[in-house]
Amino acid sequence: MYDSDTIAAISTAVGGAGIGIVRISGSDALQVGDHVFFSPGGKKQLSAQKSHTVHYGYVKDDGQIVDEVLVTLMRAPRSFTTEDTVEINCHGGVYATRRVLETVLKNGARPAEPGEFTKRAFLNGRIDLSQAESVIDVIQAKNEYALQNSLGQLRGSLRREIHALRERILYQTAFIESALDDPEHYSLDGYPPKLHLEVEDLSGKIEKLISSSDNGRIIKEGISTVILGKPNVGKSSLLNVLAGEDRAIVTDIAGTTRDTLEETVSLGGITLNVIDTAGIRNTEDYIEQIGVCKAQEMAKTADLVLYVVDSSAALDENDDKILSLLDHKKAIVLLNKSDLKPVTTSEEVRSFVGGRYPVIEISAKEETGLDALEQTLKTLFYHGDLTSHDEVTITSARQKAELIHAKDSLENVLESISMGLSEDFFSIDLMDAYAALGRIIGKEVGEDLVNEIFGRFCMGK
Ligand code: GDP
Repeated sequence: MYDSDTIAAISTAVGGAGIGIVRISGSDALQVGDHVFFSPGGKKQLSAQKSHTVHYGYVKDDGQIVDEVLVTLMRAPRSFTTEDTVEINCHGGVYATRRVLETVLKNGARPAEPGEFTKRAFLNGRIDLSQAESVIDVIQAKNEYALQNSLGQLRGSLRREIHALRERILYQTAFIESALDDPEHYSLDGYPPKLHLEVEDLSGKIEKLISSSDNGRIIKEGISTVILGKPNVGKSSLLNVLAGEDRAIVTDIAGTTRDTLEETVSLGGITLNVIDTAGIRNTEDYIEQIGVCKAQEMAKTADLVLYVVDSSAALDENDDKILSLLDHKKAIVLLNKSDLKPVTTSEEVRSFVGGRYPVIEISAKEETGLDALEQTLKTLFYHGDLTSHDEVTITSARQKAELIHAKDSLENVLESISMGLSEDFFSIDLMDAYAALGRIIGKEVGEDLVNEIFGRFCMGK
């Protein structure tokens, strides 16, 4: 399937760092190691050492020391790629690491393509495609939730689920085929209604995976959040507190936030992509009007609206307008300035929003109420807590498209059953669903797709 020639790359980020790792993998990895690595006594041959051992010494180029190193040796098949692998831990820093790589390349390895180590792990059957994709997600994880989710997938949570679905589909197809071939021993009497039940159940499970993708995107990229509220209620102050810096301009003249600002903030391991908007109110100021329209637009597409209300002022018709924007959205009402004497109480706000949204008292000035906000976010988006959240979540658009394909094929089976078509029609669509699910874990995928997926990896992974 591929050349098991020996590849090498720097696997750590190149820059001023304590350690840099040059990874070598392939059938000649140990020989390349022998050529470049020298123990202090000069006698030790890497290729004569046991697997999973670490060795101290030097990398030398034409007899000249390039760096002082520690080398880890992993023999096939007990390595990430399942090939012989040598990892050279040298000093970090651009020049030292590059010189070590250069020496390795001079001695029989070729530069690896981005993602080529993981691609080999996949092609050698050590991991499936869903696990390979999760390797990128682990590397790019921006928060604890994203990390835990990707690690779950890396450990095979999605693979197991897909595998179970495929087994059930295969069983039905095998039964149909056997019955068609050998009607004396396998009877199809009364089979269609049973198949209908089974396919409905399978389809429901796939639907659940498809709908998990929305949550998957939120986990991976963060919750797109819009802060709405009248001018001067403390929207910019809230954003500043969340971001921990003076990013937005805070003033007490109504209408200073004219355009929108976006900030990625983290609250207890949850990533929020917060958009601060111009205060919503009827305005004569043209520039401000543009900002207001934009705020309304953004509220429509956001995952979450934080609606800020000033507890030291009364609710008015502008609040009615904002409330109407929240329809069918996940929203939290933040009753700000709770450090001041209240004019509007949380009971009043609760009855104003008809109990449809949680109301939390906060003070952006004194930074209180943020724990309650964090807890509410977890309830709204992560069913409380991720540590107890072991559901499989889809994070890739490719996986989602294949699930939709599989579901459509199963819907076709249901339709064929309802129309009373013959059994061979069922098995065509069942096999189509089987193949679509298979592509998620990398069964029968084309070379182009494999190259496209691994091309997205960083160098050295
Ligand atoms: P925005 O127009 O909604 O973005 O409001 P700002 O964040 O610019 O705040 C308007 C005014 O309210 C500023 O003077 C803030 O210092 C003040 N403010 C914001 N939050 C609080 C709060 O929690 N308590 C008090 N006492 N003042 C606040």
